Amino acid sequence: MIIRLARCVFMLAVLGLLAAGVATAEARSEPFFPRSGTDAYNVRHYGVDLAYRPANGSIVAKTKIEAAARQRLRRFSLDLVGLRVTAVSVDGAAAEYNRGRGKLKITPPTPIAQHAAFTVVVEYRGRPRRITDPDGSSEGWNPTPDGAVAVGEPVGTAAWLPCNNTPADKASFDIRLTVPARLRAVSNGRLRGVQLLGSRRRYEWRERKPMATYLALIDIGKGKLLYGKTDGLPAWTLVDPAQARQSQRVLAKLGEIVRFESGLFGPYPFEALGSVVDDVPLEYALETQTRPIYAFVPDLTTVVHETAHQWFGDSVSLKRWPNIWLNEGFATWTEWYYAERHGGRSAAQTFHRLYRVPASNTAFWDPPSGHPGQAKNLFATSTYVRGAMALEALRLKIGTKPMLRVLRRWATRYRDGNADIGQFIELAEEVSGQRLGALFQRWLWARGKPPIAG
Ligand SMILES: [Zn+2]
Repeated sequence: MIIRLARCVFMLAVLGLLAAGVATAEARSEPFFPRSGTDAYNVRHYGVDLAYRPANGSIVAKTKIEAAARQRLRRFSLDLVGLRVTAVSVDGAAAEYNRGRGKLKITPPTPIAQHAAFTVVVEYRGRPRRITDPDGSSEGWNPTPDGAVAVGEPVGTAAWLPCNNTPADKASFDIRLTVPARLRAVSNGRLRGVQLLGSRRRYEWRERKPMATYLALIDIGKGKLLYGKTDGLPAWTLVDPAQARQSQRVLAKLGEIVRFESGLFGPYPFEALGSVVDDVPLEYALETQTRPIYAFVPDLTTVVHETAHQWFGDSVSLKRWPNIWLNEGFATWTEWYYAERHGGRSAAQTFHRLYRVPASNTAFWDPPSGHPGQAKNLFATSTYVRGAMALEALRLKIGTKPMLRVLRRWATRYRDGNADIGQFIELAEEVSGQRLGALFQRWLWARGKPPIAG
């Protein structure tokens, strides 16, 4: 079914028939996480007020959600895993609510009209959970020796935020975090202010640009919150004291990396940047918007990768999770191209070396990057490596200049929005003036090692 759906998108794109209506209908079906998110409304803004209590690792929070109804709403739901909800109001009036599996179901006192703007306030508390993904990795709320880290790819943000948990519904965020004064608290965007409230401190973060819920970050812990300018933009960085010395050199490269990638893909898409390094048992780095988080001392390649995601994934976001190639293939290809332009191996050399992997190594070649098939394959090796090879195969076919023009136009045309693979192919054909259906068919959708000719 997934395969047919993907090929269907592909055929429509090749025929130039990917009309907006088709794309929208397609965007609203989420095969990997069908219980997450809804198309009944769009969120415009999340205003989060969250106090963290280290004694028992609990939170007390109040979130205000400003949304617009896409249809008449007699009831609607938000994604929320665990925690105890103590009050819900809609447009200032108390609303009835109950809980379902991963859902907060709300019945407003009067139905909300189609297209009407409405405001929901949810008050909740408790100990937020760690969430185990289909591939066995952890996300959600993760306690650390000195605080906690909240990360949400693909669905973990519902562990601490009642939200419309789909990358198709992006919104601006205000995240206010109150923590004991000895701790720091970091989130996305700009730091608007820090207030001392007795023995506690409140940090007010604001991300004005649209952000997918999975890219929201909370990091609470010890360390120095460093402020400076990076490539002319305000940057905030928090590194766990145990990792500070070792991280310093690579994090100092961020400005140069942003300049390099801006030169390729167009202006940096956000108003702030920075880094977070924390001692949290996650074993991955994540491109949390404006400020990636590293669960270990990162190397240069990892910072190049997470920074590339600010364009590919964060600014231009997925509509549906099976399109993950648009994130990981692009960020991995950027690693290769960065190396090429900095005295390392060329991306073509990397491509040809990897192409020697025999077809019998199916774990390397499958699943094909354009359709991971199941949620547990979202972050399979092939999503990254075969995914980057697909882009290098495109470059080998159309040439370096057209290739870079495709990437830049992709980042520009869909900036602050959402797009899908069909739209990428359409753009690549538009820029190159070539028919690329057969190439993408081989590299994105056919199982097994793609033949190189053609
Ligand atoms: Zn990545």
